[in-house]
Amino acid sequence: MNLPPWLNAIARPLLGPDPQRARHVLFVLASTQLYVVNLGIIWHSVQLGLLQPQIARDLTWGSLLTLLTVFVLVRSGWSQRLSDPVVTLPHALVSIALCFMAYLQVGEHRASVLILVAEAIVMCMFRLRPTQMVVLGMSSVGMLLLCVLGLTWADPVRYPASTGLMHFVIGGSTLLILSLVAKWVTDIRVRIGLQARELSQALNTLQHMATQDSLTGLLNRRIMVDLVETELKLIERHGHPMTVALVDLDHFKSINDRFGHQAGDAVLIGFAGLAQTQLRQVDKVARWGGEEFLIMLPQVKASEAFTALERLRLSMGSQTFTGHPGLNATFSVGLAQARPGESLEHLIERADQALYHAKHAGRNRSHVAEHSPEADAVADQPASMAPLTGGHA
Ligand code: GH3
Ligand code: MG
Ligand code: MG
Repeated sequence: MNLPPWLNAIARPLLGPDPQRARHVLFVLASTQLYVVNLGIIWHSVQLGLLQPQIARDLTWGSLLTLLTVFVLVRSGWSQRLSDPVVTLPHALVSIALCFMAYLQVGEHRASVLILVAEAIVMCMFRLRPTQMVVLGMSSVGMLLLCVLGLTWADPVRYPASTGLMHFVIGGSTLLILSLVAKWVTDIRVRIGLQARELSQALNTLQHMATQDSLTGLLNRRIMVDLVETELKLIERHGHPMTVALVDLDHFKSINDRFGHQAGDAVLIGFAGLAQTQLRQVDKVARWGGEEFLIMLPQVKASEAFTALERLRLSMGSQTFTGHPGLNATFSVGLAQARPGESLEHLIERADQALYHAKHAGRNRSHVAEHSPEADAVADQPASMAPLTGGHA
C-alpha cells in the first residue's frame, strides 16, 4: 500500500508487514465505522431515556468483543487457513444480529439501524460469493421479520402492527433488493476474477510457446538468439569469457530410417534431458534446428567447455532409450569461444566450421575453433587449412 510516511508509521504495526494480510485487516477495520454508528445510536437513546444503560453496556461489550475477535483472527494470520481469510459471512451475520438487537431496544431511532444493516450488505459484496450473499440477504430479512413480530407482540402500544408492517415492507424489500443487487455484483466480480485467471494462464502458455521447443522442452532458437546477443554485449563490457557449442546428432537420418521417427524423437528428448542434467544451471541449451542444438556456456573458456561437452558426449554414447532396444546415438560438436566485439553470426559461423571439422574427422567427437582472429586470416588463404585446436574422441 502506498501511504504517506507518517500514516505508514501508524498503519504498519496495526496492519502487519504482509501486504495481502494488511488488506484483509483493513477490511475488518473498515467495519469499525458500522459499530461506532450503531453504538452512537444506542448511547444517544440512553441519553434520551429510551434505553437502560445496562442494555447499552451489554451491546457495547458485544460489539467490541466481536470486532476484537475478528481483528485478532485476521491480524494473527490464523484465518489464512480459511477459504475466506476475512471471515466475512460470520462477521457480517453477528454484526447484523447486533444491529437488530439495537433495533429492538432503541425506540423511535430504530429505523436508522436498518440503514446500518444495508451498509453491512453493501460492504460484503466485495468479499462474499454469490450464494453467501443470498444467505446474508435472507438472514437479514428473516431477522427483521422476527424483530417486527416480537415487538408487535411485546409492545403493541409503542410499536403497533401498522408500524411493524411498514418497517417490514419498506426495510425488508430494501434489504432484499439490495442483497439481490449485491449478489449480481458479486457474480460479475467472481466472473471477472475467473477471466483474469484464465487470461494469465493463457499468457503463461503463450510465453511458454514463444520461448520453448515443444518436443524437447528446451529453449527455442528465437529466445536463444536473444540470450547469446545479450551475453555478447556483457562480454564487451566486462570482458569475461563465453563459449558456444553447436551440437549435431550423428547419422540421425539413418536412426529415423532404421528405428522409426518416434525413436528419433526419443533420441532428441534424451539428449535434451542429458544436457539439462549434466551442464550447469547457468548454461543455456536450445534446439537450434531439426537435430542440432546450441549450448551457451557463460563465463567459460573454450578449453573448459570442451571438457564439459566431452563428458556429455560420453554420457550420450552410453545412453539407452526405453522401448527402443539396440538404439544408441552419438553427436559431434563444434565449440567457439566468443571474441571481444564479435557478432552472433560470426560466432555461430566459427562454431559451425568447428562442427564441420568434427564431422569430417569421423563424427562422435568435439572440435574447438581457434580463438585468435589471425587463425581466420590463415583459413581464408587458398590451399591452406586453419590450425584448429581441440581434442576428439
Ligand atoms: P550427420 O551425421 O552428417 O549429421 O547426418 P544426419 O543424418 O544426422 O544429418 P541429416 O541432415 O542428413 O539428417 C537430419 C535428419 O533429422 C533428417 C530429418 O528428417 C531428421 N529430423 C529433423 N527434425 C526431426 C524431428 O523433430 N524428429 C525426428 N525424428 N527427426 C527429425
Ligand atoms: Mg544437421
Ligand atoms: Mg546430424
